[in-house]
Amino acid sequence: MAVIPFALNKLIKPGPNDPRIEPRLFILHVDAGNAFSLFGLFSRNQRGNGIESHGHIRNDGVLEQYRDTDYEADANYLANPIALSFETQGFGGGKWTAKQLSTIKRAILWAHRQHGIPLQVPKTWDGSGVGYHVLFGAPGKWTPVAKSCPGPKRIKQFRDVLVPWLADQARAETAQPARPALGKYTTRQRVNRRDRPDADAKVLSTLRAGATVNITAVHWDEKRRVWFGRYRTRFGNKRWIPMRNSNVQKKG
Ligand SMILES: [Zn+2]
Repeated sequence: MAVIPFALNKLIKPGPNDPRIEPRLFILHVDAGNAFSLFGLFSRNQRGNGIESHGHIRNDGVLEQYRDTDYEADANYLANPIALSFETQGFGGGKWTAKQLSTIKRAILWAHRQHGIPLQVPKTWDGSGVGYHVLFGAPGKWTPVAKSCPGPKRIKQFRDVLVPWLADQARAETAQPARPALGKYTTRQRVNRRDRPDADAKVLSTLRAGATVNITAVHWDEKRRVWFGRYRTRFGNKRWIPMRNSNVQKKG
């Protein structure tokens, strides 16, 4: 279950054409009818063409989520099995509002942490990263028909605002994060645990969200560029977990 914590939850149950996916693309659209919500349309589509998006970002920056991002939504043609789709409110000729841009960035960062979608523009249609509907042509692999979604002014905003921002975010991430302090932490979500502080080590099991662990050593893993923290299970086994801010929170 992958629900965006800051979204309005308007989830539409995945149908038989909406299998589980591991998304690696984040694709932006415009609804082109300036719709405040697409919940009604996409709900009706479930009994028709099956088209829906994972979310819709209104002009006021509010994000409505229609599909659990662990499941397919069908707005990206051949990329449906690998892509998250986000509609934005507006007409084809318009621009993203400042509030829309701010929510778009927030949603991208969430998708990056939740699904590991890289902070880059994909190089190929089946690559990974953040793009917009006609990035690889129209018709093309992301749309079977000629269209200009999300519109020329938004594509310019994508190039002028989002691309440099993605580069800044990616650069900030490559800086080594501060060494985490030792002591007690609470897990914010389910966290994989390993017997070695190594991204290639086998995942032994998953620690539940809301668990408390006492970290007694930390180790930097250069390959994954993450700090691992060591704790002892109640059976006395040493286990290592990645100490990302999205995973753990320091207690007290
Ligand atoms: Zn589109």
